[in-house]
Amino acid sequence: MQFIDLKFQQQRIKDKIDANIQNVLAHGKYIQGPEVKELEAKLADFVGAEYAIGVSSGTDALLMPLMAYNVKPGDAIFTVPFTFIATAEVVHLLGATSVFVDIEPDTFNMDVNKLEQAIIKVKNEGKFNPKGIIPVDLFGQPADYDEINTIAKKHGLFVLEDAAQGFGGTYKGKKACSLTDVGVTSFFPAKPLGAYGDGGMCFTNNKDFYDKLISIRVHGQGTNKYDNVRVGINGRLDTFMAAILLAKFEIFNEEIGLRQDVAKRYSDNLKDFVTTPYVKDHNISAWAQYSVLHNDKEKIMSGLKEDGIPVAVYYPKPLHLQDAFVDLGYKFGDFPISEDVAAKIFSIPFHPYLSHQDQDLVIDSIKKHV
Ligand SMILES: *Cc1c(COP(=O)(O)O)cnc(C)c1O
Repeated sequence: MQFIDLKFQQQRIKDKIDANIQNVLAHGKYIQGPEVKELEAKLADFVGAEYAIGVSSGTDALLMPLMAYNVKPGDAIFTVPFTFIATAEVVHLLGATSVFVDIEPDTFNMDVNKLEQAIIKVKNEGKFNPKGIIPVDLFGQPADYDEINTIAKKHGLFVLEDAAQGFGGTYKGKKACSLTDVGVTSFFPAKPLGAYGDGGMCFTNNKDFYDKLISIRVHGQGTNKYDNVRVGINGRLDTFMAAILLAKFEIFNEEIGLRQDVAKRYSDNLKDFVTTPYVKDHNISAWAQYSVLHNDKEKIMSGLKEDGIPVAVYYPKPLHLQDAFVDLGYKFGDFPISEDVAAKIFSIPFHPYLSHQDQDLVIDSIKKHV
């Protein structure tokens, strides 16, 4: 059994993937080929955003909007400590400062009740200039965007939705990536919509902002590539990745449905043994991961491993305790919910094509070792 097994999906759509790859080889437009535009149009439509821009990775999809907002040294960006490093890394690449806000103990997303306190504290201290908020749709579940957008508006901040894990999820009937000023996702192979390499996408309704991202994607280009009006990066999505994603996108909606079934079956069978995921009534999760909590997780995890079942921990060490961010001056105890969740959480094999048989092996193993 694999933790995320991509071969079942590939078997289903192999012909389409092969045909799309052959098409790219035939037309030869490896950089910014027509597949990129087609994918941007289809995903913008799916998400319900005016504009989409294919980029080189989820990390660059986070970095580029920050560049477009001119985030710079002295700026404070509010985000969560319980996420993948990329969420906060991009802030520091631009010389700005992450200010962490603890998470909710049940959804693991930003606790909006702690957000405004954090903003007011930074304002009162006067050392940094509050500039933006990066909430994360952790494990596929959207954060509380109505509340976050209201607080952002009140304090004049932008909101950048990190939906690297959230693509395909829904908040109050609206799709992830369409919930704030700008939403971004990742096409890393293990994400809900994964390519066969790196890739990502940014979504926005703002034409001026979109134009800036287009420029930043190709070295800050102006009227052409050799007219550079700002500092940008090489942030393009490969044509081959777009071609592969077009084939995968055809069955994506169905896969989001299959993910609900797999998640429900896990939860029905495991809820008396571990703390199973909590999804708010107004949300549909894209189920990037299925993560559970237990006080003695080491015992269960080693039991699973003994039984040949792969497990993973997202995330063993919250960002405020990472050496990379030692300059921020945080210490253990600063974000108790993140620390507590990190100590208790682990993730079990999950993908849309997980068979009942394999799922039962996981369930029985947990029951045996709990
Ligand atoms: C995967 C991930 C990213 C980064 O995406 P890449 O495509 O790997 O660069 C950013 N944020 C979160 C929350 C992620 O899970």
